[in-house]
Amino acid sequence: MIEVQEFSKYYAETCAVNRISFRVDAGEILGLVGPNGAGKTTTLRAIAGIIPPTLGHITIAGHDVRANPLAAKRELAFVSDEPRLFDYLTVREHLRFFGRLYGTDDVEPKATALIAEMELGGKEDALPGALSRGMKQKLAAACALLHAPKALLLDEPLTGLDPVAIRRMKRTIRARADAGTAVIVSSHLLSLVEEISNRVLVLVQGHIAAIGRMDELKASIGAKADLEEVFLRITGASEFPPTNPPQEKT
Ligand code: ATP
Repeated sequence: MIEVQEFSKYYAETCAVNRISFRVDAGEILGLVGPNGAGKTTTLRAIAGIIPPTLGHITIAGHDVRANPLAAKRELAFVSDEPRLFDYLTVREHLRFFGRLYGTDDVEPKATALIAEMELGGKEDALPGALSRGMKQKLAAACALLHAPKALLLDEPLTGLDPVAIRRMKRTIRARADAGTAVIVSSHLLSLVEEISNRVLVLVQGHIAAIGRMDELKASIGAKADLEEVFLRITGASEFPPTNPPQEKT
């Protein structure tokens, strides 16, 4: 379970995210959408413990990300849209390395299963330099899933994937949620978000402009529409006043 309470992030005087609160329960997929610069990546990076919140608290499976970062990160996986891989580790070595890092049992059969699930068969001994962009994205996802995280953060997870891989990745995400993982998917692909999310959070200028199930969001604007229409109406109508930074900044 992921809990975000009164989270704010300032970069110097710039307020990227302003006092947002939400939670994602085990088994739930939350779609995170918003215009460029809305604060989506900032929010994901703070949940992942990569950047500290200026204000507020974030917990992963009950562990405060700031107070207890190791315990929180053990339960978490973050797949960014720019996969960071090790130049001198092969596909299988990546999985072994992540297995050791997280103290995962039965790494070899789990790695073999993930290599098959991500269609990386035949590339076990390849270095990242010999992988296509989509294959790198799949390897990053495989490494993230190896330790069966309780919280899974995905930033544009379909970037670079071909149509077959897109379908498989959607199934993988859904299967992880069905197995009890709390998932946040941030994407500009509104059809993906609409298809796989239980709830959607619309972030605008660092504020929550709307959060709810698709039918609730549609009802709130009175439109019989898809998420694109809902998105355009909500983001177009949302105006938030400028925010002064707090006294103590991080
Ligand atoms: P996009 O859809 O374009 O990826 P986003 O919703 O992920 O956007 P963020 O990357 O979180 O948005 O950025 C939110 C705000 O914070 C923007 O105003 C951005 O300029 C600012 N910002 C992000 N990272 C930094 C940084 N490292 N230093 C200063 N400002 C930053």
